[in-house]
Amino acid sequence: MSSNHFASLTFPIINKTYEQPTGLFINNEWVASKSGKTFEVTSPITEEKLCDVQLAGEEDVEIAVQAAYKAFKTWKFVEPSVRAKCLFKLADLIEENKELIAQIESLDNGKALHCAQFDLNLVIECIRSCGGYADKNDGRSIVTDANHMTYTKREPLGVCGAITPWNFPLLMLAWKLGPCVAVGNTMVLKPASATVLSNLFVCQLIKEAGFPEGVINIIPGSGRGCGNSILNHPLIKKISFTGSTGVGKTVMTQCANSIKKVTLELGGKSPNIVFDDCNVEETIKNVIKGIFFNGGEVCCAGSRIYIQATNEEFYNSFLAKLKTAIEEIKVGNPFEEGVYQGAQTTPDQFQEVMDYIKAGKDTGLKLLTGGERIGTKGYFVKPTIFYDVPQNSKLTQEEIFGPVGVVLPFKSIDELIEKANDSDFGLGSGIHTEDLNKAIYVSDRLEAGSVWINTYNDLHQNVPFGGYKQSGIGREMGIEAFDNFVQTKAIRYKIRVPQI
Ligand code: NAD
Repeated sequence: MSSNHFASLTFPIINKTYEQPTGLFINNEWVASKSGKTFEVTSPITEEKLCDVQLAGEEDVEIAVQAAYKAFKTWKFVEPSVRAKCLFKLADLIEENKELIAQIESLDNGKALHCAQFDLNLVIECIRSCGGYADKNDGRSIVTDANHMTYTKREPLGVCGAITPWNFPLLMLAWKLGPCVAVGNTMVLKPASATVLSNLFVCQLIKEAGFPEGVINIIPGSGRGCGNSILNHPLIKKISFTGSTGVGKTVMTQCANSIKKVTLELGGKSPNIVFDDCNVEETIKNVIKGIFFNGGEVCCAGSRIYIQATNEEFYNSFLAKLKTAIEEIKVGNPFEEGVYQGAQTTPDQFQEVMDYIKAGKDTGLKLLTGGERIGTKGYFVKPTIFYDVPQNSKLTQEEIFGPVGVVLPFKSIDELIEKANDSDFGLGSGIHTEDLNKAIYVSDRLEAGSVWINTYNDLHQNVPFGGYKQSGIGREMGIEAFDNFVQTKAIRYKIRVPQI
């Protein structure tokens, strides 16, 4: 690989230095963008510049797609066990570099180190699990009549485009790359430009894992430029998009022009439900994890907290305990010992969170805790909860995507279900109760792709994840993820009576 496209970066506090790739990764090589344009990567922890990265535009998309198209012709017919080996090796290499990659993710995204470590574990297990599926992508044998032999094959689609957001940069890469290449597709991925460092670092490991050139191409660029060119490229047969519901709608519209297959993982405003028979200590932890894990920059964040209020004493005492626990959360530099919540990732997102907090205060919502920025450098926000919030409040209805939750009381199961489902989104949900009957009854009625009972944000590589309603189309992880990357071919052979 060319040595031109590297920068030496140093982590704060731990003072460790490493070599960060900064080029476009096409055909297993680092290359400069055709336009010669670069963009600045800054750290949300310090607001200081980290490095310049090559900015992919339309011409670079063309080169990357042609590379992936050429690679597909061979990769499609490679023994599945070879594809499996590449994925296993990639998982192993990421595991060997796990600590460093987690640090890169924290530096670039601002997330607390324990959050980045959580991501890395899922990344490794997801890629490994996809390797395990590579040689099990079987079709069916279908019995129709004595004169035919009929079977189906689950064939790859071709070149797939992937566009990812900035909250889980490497995890979103893993969720797309794993199933995509396991079944014989090739890919061109555009990470969110705010957080490209971990993706580019892992490119070196992709090459080392033995993936042939052109199978995986990673090209940072803007949504409107590079992203748009990916959506419009005729050789791209499928788009796997994760991001906001607004951009998701654009993706779907653009893909209609060439009938690309589309999967969308979009926004959320998930209900996290607390019954008065819950294990209070555990539930407080799950409510905190639900809304403050990853600084609240989680698509399935439990941002609407419904607390049973038939018994006011329970409601008030739960709120008091929640407030105490939240005020013990350490917010700060991700590299500092004991930090639970790091910095918000981008200046725009930080401002949006502060605007929502202001809107809450301006409309007279009651503040349980938080409601302010911390310090003047870096995008740090106090964990914030408003309570007794009306169902129709802007803060109840809109995705804030930051450490801001709303608490709403409920007094009956019917009222709860109606309110919990009163949202355009349907991604995650949580139920906290010791009564299994109540848990199952409510879970059957929630309009959400995931229901976590007495737990929250409890992702597993074998469990499908995705949205109901405007939270998306398709599923990632689990066996369902592969369905998004294959098309079924039916082969029917007419049998003649043999003559000898
Ligand atoms: P975003 O929609 O602004 O951007 C996502 C990606 O789309 C980025 O790479 C961006 O550059 C690209 N993009 C933007 N405009 C584009 C265009 N016109 N054409 C093509 N590409 C374009 O989202 P974000 O702010 O990066 O991420 C936050 C959002 O992602 C939240 O809404 C969150 O809920 C959602 N999200 C969902 C999931 C899930 O699994 N459901 C997971 C993570 C994040």
